[in-house]
Amino acid sequence: MKILCIFAHPDDFEIYAIGSAIRLINKDINVHLAIATTTFSIYTEERKAEAHKAIEGLKMTLSFLGFPDGQIKSSNVNCYKEVEKLVLDYKPDLIFTHSESDYHSDHVNLAKIVKDIASFKVPVLFSDTLNGQESNVSIYIDITEQIDEKCMRLSYHKSQCEKAPYINIVKIVNNFRGLQYSGDPLSYCEAFTSSVYHKKHLDEILLKLFGK
Ligand SMILES: [Zn+2]
Repeated sequence: MKILCIFAHPDDFEIYAIGSAIRLINKDINVHLAIATTTFSIYTEERKAEAHKAIEGLKMTLSFLGFPDGQIKSSNVNCYKEVEKLVLDYKPDLIFTHSESDYHSDHVNLAKIVKDIASFKVPVLFSDTLNGQESNVSIYIDITEQIDEKCMRLSYHKSQCEKAPYINIVKIVNNFRGLQYSGDPLSYCEAFTSSVYHKKHLDEILLKLFGK
């Protein structure tokens, strides 16, 4: 099976989905990460290097789609075509991306583009938002065993972690989702909403990927 993770900025994968991805990588499942933005007002080269460093040692692949920060628009034909080409070429069984109810325009617009392209072809998991305001989460992936590695890998985004306490935020939100899911205050989950042609298809995929 092949998993495609499409996120807007270099640190988003670590914030929203790397715990789930580590579980899949540990089962020798193919995971590709595409980061949509490549150029920033500051720290462009640092942020690309941080993205490589954060997944170092994980058996997965990484590409950058090359868009400027803040410029992901669902009306941008180039943007749409790049994501469409990626999905058609890679042929994923499941896509992870942002929430449509996010606060950040790059996140929202990328989620809309991915949803439109995936349509009934590929099921999509839309991630939580940074502070956990996504109210409709229905899929919880247990990352209790991966939370320490997740935080360690997020810490490699030094340029961002110096600006805001992202590691603390991620631990709080993932812990809250773990409590919601299991009732265990010591557990951690990444939470998602889904878009799928029919639920049985997604359930079968998730069982294959995350079932015991
Ligand atoms: Zn972002």
